[in-house]
Amino acid sequence: MSAIDLHNETYFPVEASCPSEIKMALDPSKKLPELAWFLIVDIIREEPVIETDYIEVYAARFLVMDKKGVEFSVAFVLNSAEASRFPIEKLHVGVSLILKDAVMTTLVDNSIGVIMRGVRKIKIVPCTVKYLLKTNDRVHNARGIENGKHLCFACDKECEPYNKDAGRCDGCTFFYFCSKMCNYIVHNYKWHGLECTFLQDDDLAALFSGNWDDIHSFANICLIQKRH
Ligand SMILES: [Zn+2]
Ligand SMILES: [Zn+2]
Repeated sequence: MSAIDLHNETYFPVEASCPSEIKMALDPSKKLPELAWFLIVDIIREEPVIETDYIEVYAARFLVMDKKGVEFSVAFVLNSAEASRFPIEKLHVGVSLILKDAVMTTLVDNSIGVIMRGVRKIKIVPCTVKYLLKTNDRVHNARGIENGKHLCFACDKECEPYNKDAGRCDGCTFFYFCSKMCNYIVHNYKWHGLECTFLQDDDLAALFSGNWDDIHSFANICLIQKRH
């Protein structure tokens, strides 16, 4: 498995493998990774915000679930300008969050969870983690072949580069097709429509292609932003 695979627990950790302030306090030899990492979670439900005098405004708190089904809370700490831009209405069951450089810590109610400060390291993806992982597997299947050849998204055959009817999805450019018929299928698979849309987001495209240097505006909100 290559390092960019969403199953990789160093770059895409779960609750147990995520960098943790608590573990670092207990063992000073534990340090934050030098490269970025991305915690990917499903939203389970909104939780009541627990306010205290000594902590900034919590705009929201959600119970989430990692790739392995472990549940914990994510609290968002936002200033008033960030809170007014934060698309809280887009956070509900069925969407997932990608949290860049998230660290497990102790929340105000003493449970273990993540506190995200500001909106710059949050991505809301309009599908479940399960769907993201399936997209990941499809992306890897499409390119996981030697000699620069690609597998057809629709029929899994090797695409012949000299066949004029072969090509790639002109939306996301991640998937290849071997013939006119398979091209038709690629563009009409309902379940490709959704991933095709979010793979056109610069940051998510960079995640899926492993070009992390291209992650510039890992900034909140949804997608539906065309690559230029
Ligand atoms: Zn095909
Ligand atoms: Zn596409």
